[in-house]
Amino acid sequence: RQQLYRELRDRPPVSKDGVAVELLMNAGLAVDLPQLAQSGAAGIGLFRTELQFMVASTFPRVEAQERLYREVIDAADGKPVTFRTIDIGGDKVLPYFKGAQQEENPALGWRAIRLTLDRPGLLRTQVRALLKASGGRELKLMLPMVTEISEITRARDIIDREVRHLSRFAHHLPTSLKLGAMVEVPSLLWQLDELMSAVDFVSVGSNDLFQFVMATDRGNTRIADRFDPLCAPFLRLLRQIAQAGKEADKPVTLCGELAGRPISAMALLGIGYRAISMAPASVGPVKAMLCELPLEALSERMEIALAKNAATTDIRAELRQFASEH
Ligand code: PEP
Ligand code: MG
Repeated sequence: RQQLYRELRDRPPVSKDGVAVELLMNAGLAVDLPQLAQSGAAGIGLFRTELQFMVASTFPRVEAQERLYREVIDAADGKPVTFRTIDIGGDKVLPYFKGAQQEENPALGWRAIRLTLDRPGLLRTQVRALLKASGGRELKLMLPMVTEISEITRARDIIDREVRHLSRFAHHLPTSLKLGAMVEVPSLLWQLDELMSAVDFVSVGSNDLFQFVMATDRGNTRIADRFDPLCAPFLRLLRQIAQAGKEADKPVTLCGELAGRPISAMALLGIGYRAISMAPASVGPVKAMLCELPLEALSERMEIALAKNAATTDIRAELRQFASEH
């Protein structure tokens, strides 16, 4: 198998019937970077910047942040990288961050964009480091745990201010700056049009979205496997996000664990996703699946399956059946 994945590395990620798909990888530290070449990923779909904060003993200074981001962009060597602003708080606690308190429901608490909008100095510093590291190149920035559109607007104000500040001091700015949001809080599902107008792209964080939609703690082993992410309600909802992106002509990717298992990656392609981001080790297995996949036929099959009575339809079984037929 490893031999097969190595052989597939330089093969274009195209389905058996000729549909091109972007297979990206998730990363978070400099040690992950060699995986970009080894996995054959088309770029980094999710760079979890909070990891640098989590392995440090104090807040990383702006210079250290800039150094890491530059290293990432250099290693990507022209491939796209999406940097997510720090997703700390909740279960990702920083022992040196005094502002945080014990919370009864950390997943629903003061975390990610909520925290950085309340401590804008943190966001400003990070944005400055990202802008400087991306001088002369494209910068893609993504906001985690967005719940309402105004959070994007407020973050954009902070980003714009940093851009003006740096240009005043004649810094080399990015050639383009794209701002995106993660779709991981269900409130966004009922404002998808507004969301698409407010951003340049979105990425579905299926780990958190599943946790919140199913009211199921992603870290609780007793229940984490109780409900199937390949159930009709969750897949219908993921399909709706992909469709909204298509209608608004905004790129939609998915970067949760779901993207990394061949059977669920297959389901995602079948409901309209054309860019997915996964752990580096999953790129080979997912590409092997893709090369054998008649995607048009699968899409038709998924349409039919998702229109059936959800109470009596086993989508995972249908996917397995389709896979064994092909
Ligand atoms: C997610 O929630 O699916 C996601 C990609 O982000 P994280 O796993 O870092 O919360
Ligand atoms: Mg998340």
